[in-house]
Amino acid sequence: MGRVANLYASAVGGKSRAQADTSGREAVERGTKPLLEVDGVTLQYKTKESLVTATYRVSFNVYQGDRYILLGPSGCGKSTLLKGVAGFLKPVEGDIRLNDRHIDGPGPDRMMVFQEFDQLLPWKTVRQNVLFPMKTCGKRECEDKADAVIEKVGLSKFANSYPHMLSGGMKQRVAIARAMAMEPDILLMDEPYAALDALTRRRMQDELLMLWDDIRFTVMFVTHSIQEAIIVGNRILVLSPHPGQVRAELNSDAHNRENVKDSSFADLEARINDMLFAEHAVVGAQGE
Ligand code: ADP
Ligand code: MG
Repeated sequence: MGRVANLYASAVGGKSRAQADTSGREAVERGTKPLLEVDGVTLQYKTKESLVTATYRVSFNVYQGDRYILLGPSGCGKSTLLKGVAGFLKPVEGDIRLNDRHIDGPGPDRMMVFQEFDQLLPWKTVRQNVLFPMKTCGKRECEDKADAVIEKVGLSKFANSYPHMLSGGMKQRVAIARAMAMEPDILLMDEPYAALDALTRRRMQDELLMLWDDIRFTVMFVTHSIQEAIIVGNRILVLSPHPGQVRAELNSDAHNRENVKDSSFADLEARINDMLFAEHAVVGAQGE
């Protein structure tokens, strides 16, 4: 019995990690099968004059419920990787699979959530904003779905409000609700808070985590901030500078806003900092 229980614990990510997480946020329940598999992916841009290799043989897996971070310096290919996963750019080498299916183009199973200021239509209510991209269902069915997802993100009372009446955090919820109404398997966020001031950024990070606590979506999140990566993510893929290669994959599930002043947080931050500024890439190195 003990052995079976142990096997089960390791298959779902292990309860011990959940207990170690001081935020109360439980460890992601993890099946053995990845949701997204990025396998030896090289992505290039061909222009008339040149061939730019943006990422080189990058591999990683994202599991259901992951807050998976792509971290690396500007120009290392984070956005390009996200474009590859979104299906806008085809790998010249390697393969990207979602639910075991080869990704061959964009689809509603992967939704990009853009920055708040360029995504909500100001002349439409919350409900109309969520309904706007929904085209594949009948009117009534769409409305029911929109209402359900608005309730899920805790905005039922604001369904008939306009974006200017909402806080930044609430607008982010609407943006996520709108993406989730398409019932995607994974949300993609490319440096969503890069243009925000420090305090707003912090609030948006906390809001995102609160929403994750409620509904456990899977998100791939791009950032070049080490602290943001550790706070927002449960796993971090550290990429080397141009062309982006995997330096390490780290587990940051035990670290969060509440223990930002602990030495273990600072240790992880320093470790990532060293990796990012190391002279030579430790290609393919796997962290914990
Ligand atoms: P990051 O998001 O990490 O800052 P990007 O993925 O945007 O990096 O870019 C990776 C590399 O690919 C950079 O060298 C960038 O100049 C190059 N690149 C990005 N987009 C294009 C494009 N449309 N055409 C040519 N080169 C590009
Ligand atoms: Mg980018």
